[in-house]
Amino acid sequence: MSYEVSKSDEQWRAELSPQEYAVLREAGTERPFVGEYTDTKTTGVYSCRACGAELFRSDTKFESHCGWPSFYDPADTDAVELIQDRSLGMVRTEVRCARCGSHLGHVFEGEGYGTPTDQRYCINSISLKLTPEE
Ligand SMILES: [Zn+2]
Repeated sequence: MSYEVSKSDEQWRAELSPQEYAVLREAGTERPFVGEYTDTKTTGVYSCRACGAELFRSDTKFESHCGWPSFYDPADTDAVELIQDRSLGMVRTEVRCARCGSHLGHVFEGEGYGTPTDQRYCINSISLKLTPEE
């Protein structure tokens, strides 16, 4: 898979903080309930912290009480890439930025949250950057 934004590990390490690198480039997960955007209700656009691509909008963010920012739909279906993830003995669907391939989180379905898509994009705050609407 080649991405529009492609950088060496060395470049990513230079541009990202160690914490950002661990999640975005090594598919790590930040601890629940501590992320900067977990409870954020600000109106705006959430972009990829690695490459700046627009990923989610605040109007699809909902309170899932799971400890991570949760969205029920990406801003554009092409903005994210979904990949089957069989790590940790589970089958999950990994969510990556379609532009740079950075890890964002996972998407879960059919949990009964009552959102229009019945999906929960469970995204690490550290993978995102919120630009508040003027
Ligand atoms: Zn990106």
